[in-house]
Amino acid sequence: MEIRLAKTAGFCFGVNRAVELTYGLLAEGHKVATLGPLIHNPQAVEDMRRKGAQVVDTVQDVPAGCEVVIRSHGVPRSVYDELEARGIPYHDATCPFVQKIQRIAAEAEKEGAVLLVAGDKTHPEVQGIVGHTRGEVFVFADLAELERGTALLTPKNPFCSCTDHISGDKMERKFGVSQKAYTNARIFDTICNATWARQQEAEDLSQKCDIVVVIGGHHSSNTQKLVQVAAKHTRAVTVETASELRPEWFADVKVAGVTAGASTPSSIIEEVLNSMSAEINDNMSFEEMLNASEEKRVHAGSIVKGIVTSISANEIQVDIGAKQTGFVKLSELTDDSSAKVEDLVKVGDELDLIVEKVMDQDGVIQLSRKKLASRKGMEEIAKAAESGEVVEGDVTEFNKGGVVVNVKGVKVFVPRSQATMRRDEDYTALVGQHVQLVVTECSGRKIVGSINKVTAEQNKAKREEFWANVEVGKTYTGVVKSLTSYGAFVDIGGVDGLCHISELSWNRIKHPSEVVSVGDTIEVYVKDIDTENHKVSLGYKKSEDNPWEQLKNNYPIGSTFHAPVVSLTKFGAFVRILPGVDGLVHISEISNDRVEKVSDALKVGDMVDVKLLDVDFDKKRISLSMKALLNNDAE
Ligand code: SF4
Repeated sequence: MEIRLAKTAGFCFGVNRAVELTYGLLAEGHKVATLGPLIHNPQAVEDMRRKGAQVVDTVQDVPAGCEVVIRSHGVPRSVYDELEARGIPYHDATCPFVQKIQRIAAEAEKEGAVLLVAGDKTHPEVQGIVGHTRGEVFVFADLAELERGTALLTPKNPFCSCTDHISGDKMERKFGVSQKAYTNARIFDTICNATWARQQEAEDLSQKCDIVVVIGGHHSSNTQKLVQVAAKHTRAVTVETASELRPEWFADVKVAGVTAGASTPSSIIEEVLNSMSAEINDNMSFEEMLNASEEKRVHAGSIVKGIVTSISANEIQVDIGAKQTGFVKLSELTDDSSAKVEDLVKVGDELDLIVEKVMDQDGVIQLSRKKLASRKGMEEIAKAAESGEVVEGDVTEFNKGGVVVNVKGVKVFVPRSQATMRRDEDYTALVGQHVQLVVTECSGRKIVGSINKVTAEQNKAKREEFWANVEVGKTYTGVVKSLTSYGAFVDIGGVDGLCHISELSWNRIKHPSEVVSVGDTIEVYVKDIDTENHKVSLGYKKSEDNPWEQLKNNYPIGSTFHAPVVSLTKFGAFVRILPGVDGLVHISEISNDRVEKVSDALKVGDMVDVKLLDVDFDKKRISLSMKALLNNDAE
C-alpha cells in the first residue's frame, strides 16, 4: 500500500504559535490556564494538562496565581477588559489572521457600519470577532441565511468579512451575493490560507486515493470539514489516534491518503503513519516526507527586505513583496527578553531579514533579523579571528566553564581562565557588562574568545604610560584591589601601589578594613617611587586632616575639652582630646586631693573635663589638667 501524506497535514501557523507559547510558559514554570481547550485535540490538551495547564471556561474560573493564555481563536474585547480589571496576567496567542478580522470589526464600529460575518455563530472564533464591535452585526452560515438577511437588512456601508470555517467555493458565491445585495459593501477576503489549502489538498488527495484517513479531534470542525470534502470522491474515515485505525479499512487499498486537521500534533500523525505501514514510502522518515512535500517558492536562508506593516506584543508582520505574509517573532528581533516590540521597530520601517521557514500552505513566512545579524556577525568574527582584531560585545550569561559574549549577534564563549585577570575574581560579575575581547578560535560552531588578552595588553600600555609620567606628590584616583594586615593595594591605572596602614588614617587602626574596602574608589598620592623594582608607595590620609595641625591652629594653651579617658598608667591617665591625639593628665593634676592610685579616681571610658596646659609638637606630648578646672570652679 502506498501512503500519501498531505503536505498541509497538522498544525497550522496559528495553532502552532499558541501551542509553542503554552509549552514555553509551562517549561519556564508558569502556572497556566487556557480559556477553553487550547486546540481541538483531546490528546494534546491532555498532554498539556499533565504538564500543568488548566482549562477554564470563563475568566471568573481562573485559579489564583495562574496566567491566562488566550487561544488562537481569539476572544471578545470584553474578556481582555475583565482580565485587566481582575489583574490577571495574560498571553495573547490570538492568531494574527484572526486579529486582522477583529480589527475589521472594530473599524466597522468606528464607521457606524453593519458587520456581515460569514461563519458559524456558535464557533468561538466568530463569537470573538463579533465581540470586537458594539455596532450592528449579522452572522450568516450559508447562502440561504444571507439571502434571508438581505431581505431583512438594509445596512449602511456594510463590511463583509469571512472567518476561516467557511469553505472557499462557498465564499466566492457569498461574496457575489453580498455584493449584489449591497452594492456599497466593502468586502474583506479574510479566509485563512491554512483552511483553504487543507480543504483543497484533501479534495485533491481524495481523487487519487482509495481511502483518505483524516486525523483530528472528533469535535474539531476543521477536521470534520476535511472528511466531508474528501468523502465527495472516495471513502473518508476519521481517527483521533492510531488506536482507532481498523485493518479492514485497508484490505484492498492500493493508495491511501492521509491528512490531518489544523490542531493535530505531528506526534499523532507520525504514530498513525507508523501504524499504517512500517515501511513508509521506501523508508522515508515522517520529517523527510513533510520536507519532500514542501514546495518552497521563497527559500529558507534567502535574505530579503521587509517593510513592517503591523506590530503586536510578541511579533511583527512584514511585507517582503511575496504573496505570503511575513512574521518576525520578538525573540527573532532581539536577544533582550525585556525589550518591547514598539521600542525596536515601528510600522513602515524597512528591515533586513533572513527567511527561516516557508509555510506555503498557511501563506506564512517566518523570518529573523537576529539570525541575519548573526550571519553577518559570523563573517566579521571569522575575519577578526584571523587578524587578531579586538571586537566588542555584551556578556549575556555565565556557566560553570565561563561566560558567553554576544558579539554582533554571535555567541562567543570565553573560558573562565580567559575572562578575568585573577583566578579569585568573580567572573559571573561580568554578566551585563560591555567588554572587549579577541577571538582565539573560530572553527565551525566553536567560537572562543579571550577578554584577558585585551585587558593584559591594555594594562601593559597603561603601565608604560604610568612609569613614563609618575612623580612624587602626583595624585591618582585608584581602586582598592586587596587588603593585607600591613596596608591596602590600590590599582592606579595598570599599576598596584601599596598604601601602608600608617598612611591610611591619622588614628591608630588595627586593620586597613577600618578605613577602606576592596572595590572602593579612593584618591591617593604618590609618596615614594622605586623605579628599579617598579614599586610605588601611596598616601591616603591628608595633611589638612592631621589632628596635630588642627590642635596647633584651633586650640591655644588653656583650651578645655570634655573627652574620654583612653588608658591609665602609674603616673596618670591618657585622655583623647582629638581623634588620634591623646594627652596626659598627670596623677598630680587629677584632683585637689592627693590621689594614691590613678585607678582610685578614674577608669577607662570616663568622660572628664580637662584643660590644655602644654604641647610639645616635636615630641608629640600634651599635658592636661583636671585639677585646673576644679580650681576654676572653686574661684
Ligand atoms: S486556521 Fe488560519 S486563522 Fe485559524 S488559527 Fe490556523 S492559521 Fe490562524
